[in-house]
Amino acid sequence: MKSDLVYIALLHYPVYNKHGEVVTTTITNFDLHDISRLARTYGLGGFYVVNPLRSQHLLARRIIDYWQEGYGASFNPTRIEAFRHTTVVSDLTEAIDQLRDRHEADPVIVMTGAKKRSGSIGYSELKGMMAAGGGPYLILFGTGWGIHASMAEEVDYILEPLMPHSDYNHLSVRSAASIIIDRLLGDRD
Ligand code: SAM
Repeated sequence: MKSDLVYIALLHYPVYNKHGEVVTTTITNFDLHDISRLARTYGLGGFYVVNPLRSQHLLARRIIDYWQEGYGASFNPTRIEAFRHTTVVSDLTEAIDQLRDRHEADPVIVMTGAKKRSGSIGYSELKGMMAAGGGPYLILFGTGWGIHASMAEEVDYILEPLMPHSDYNHLSVRSAASIIIDRLLGDRD
């Protein structure tokens, strides 16, 4: 599997808040940095930050520009590289359209989450599917209290949760994304 056919999307809408309501969450500085670094390290095609709010786009752009062009770029040039393939979009459709244009194929969309859902696929199954070809693959991660259940109807696959039997299942999105990308693309030697 060519890792540059794999993309991450971080959804800030539609996600749950702690009361189970649908909300738009704010962009987190750490998420931008750590998931951009993850994507660059594993040679992914890109990282989409999905947020419908213009104010949040401005915030994300300010952070990214600081590390690409501002003082941050001279302070830590490796971040220029990390953010090169990070794109802020308003909704998933925008990301899907970009991938369709770039790869001349619809992306295979895979949703992640901490809750076990019926019909989900395992890591080796997805890895095998990726190895067999196809793609691009767009792997969705959530913010807040996780991706809204309605998204399950819109994706091609739902991935099994990590550690479904743990009595503590509250990984940060940064940890979950790193573990999942490593399970799918990591060098096992
Ligand atoms: N603000 C929170 C944070 O990062 O601490 C965001 C939490 S959000 C619910 C975490 C996201 O990481 C989930 O939507 C899912 O994409 C992923 N995630 C968390 N735990 C997971 C698990 N056990 N298995 C698979 N994905 C998981």
